[in-house]
Amino acid sequence: MNRILVVAAHPDDEVLGCGGMIAAARDKKRDVRVIFLAEGVMSRYSADQINSPAALEASRLRNANAFKALDILGVPADQVFVSERPCCRLDQASLLALTQEIEAHLKDFRASVVYTHAQNDPNIDHQIAFKAVLPAVRPLGPQSPKAVYSFEVLSSTEWNPAHPFQANCFVDISSSIDRKISALAAYGDEMRPAPHPRSEDMVRSLARFRGAQSGLNYAESFNLIRAIES
Ligand SMILES: [Zn+2]
Repeated sequence: MNRILVVAAHPDDEVLGCGGMIAAARDKKRDVRVIFLAEGVMSRYSADQINSPAALEASRLRNANAFKALDILGVPADQVFVSERPCCRLDQASLLALTQEIEAHLKDFRASVVYTHAQNDPNIDHQIAFKAVLPAVRPLGPQSPKAVYSFEVLSSTEWNPAHPFQANCFVDISSSIDRKISALAAYGDEMRPAPHPRSEDMVRSLARFRGAQSGLNYAESFNLIRAIES
């Protein structure tokens, strides 16, 4: 489990979903690669505005913030892969192309474990990330990862309460919760005041609650999709 590939839809999902796990893994000298399938701001612009200078600059800034956030978590810049696909329009992309892109990273990075979005997340790009990852990680051959997990993203995953996130695996982030908060701060205005779920208070509260479920001070939770024991 020493080579961790995180497949996130947008910059900030990786920190909200598994930033504490990433920092803890880097502390243990595990290799981490993060790929984004889309950028993170174009959903705020109409179709005829997404190529405007203001939109392109905002998108560039968000992608630049991803490198800052992941640097705080210990991920080197050459293991961060941003995208220019417009946010919340992955339904207009080729699912096959997304899967092939993920497969190329799996092969190149030789990932042993993969983390991605949850199946029932209401965000369209998060759903498509899950759909694109699943065929890419099919258990064929020695290059398939040994474990695949979904993560939860505050201000998205919890907004499908009829199909709540199935937390059945936990990672101790007691030593990395503060770096997770600092990494989120690198995204600037993406963080909001409480009681918005994307606030420091709520990120800490969720980590405390997941810790309460697992006997830890602070935890991130994951849903195990598949694991092959060795
Ligand atoms: Zn997202």
